[in-house]
Amino acid sequence: MRLVLLGPPGSGKGTQATRLKETLGVPHISTGDLLRAEVAAGSPLGLQAKEVMARGELVSDDILLGMLESRLGRDDVAKGFILDGYPRNLAQADALDGLLAKIGQPLDAVVQLDVATDLLVERIAGRAQAEGRADDNPESVRKRLQVYNDSTAPVIGFFENRGTLTRIDGVGTMDEITARILAALKKA
Ligand code: AMP
Repeated sequence: MRLVLLGPPGSGKGTQATRLKETLGVPHISTGDLLRAEVAAGSPLGLQAKEVMARGELVSDDILLGMLESRLGRDDVAKGFILDGYPRNLAQADALDGLLAKIGQPLDAVVQLDVATDLLVERIAGRAQAEGRADDNPESVRKRLQVYNDSTAPVIGFFENRGTLTRIDGVGTMDEITARILAALKKA
């Protein structure tokens, strides 16, 4: 199963991907996690990305594509993957298309988690207390939501035009949302 999870920051993509990877038996690839690992390691890439991420802006498309290409080249993606946090703009959606065509692994499904903005702000505030992420401060959260609306939301239309997109109500218990996603994947 090759799946992309789309949704605004705080919509639960990471939480759901963590649960789905067990059920689907495929790795969870979070570009945010990959970048945070680079930052933690203090690599040249991490040093480049650190400030951009803290501000809630998007790291460059070139960096993301290189990172993703190397991750998708690993053996554990043979049975598929759950991609979380990519693509985040139309250029990345095109790049993903090209990359997956090159490795002969087209997407099976794209699931969008819909959650109203008020609730997102509340959820991210809760996560900020629990995890202490550098970009969970109010200013960065506002920026991330703006970037989502301006750059990432158009990606929904991109996949809608392909007929690969399913929208899911992202409000409910974790179990309910996992069940909704699995039901959507059965249909896909
Ligand atoms: P996330 O954990 O998915 O919320 O990502 C955290 C931060 O990492 C984002 O706010 C961006 O700064 C950066 N990031 C993650 N994925 C991407 C991407 N596909 N394109 C550009 N920047 C990204």
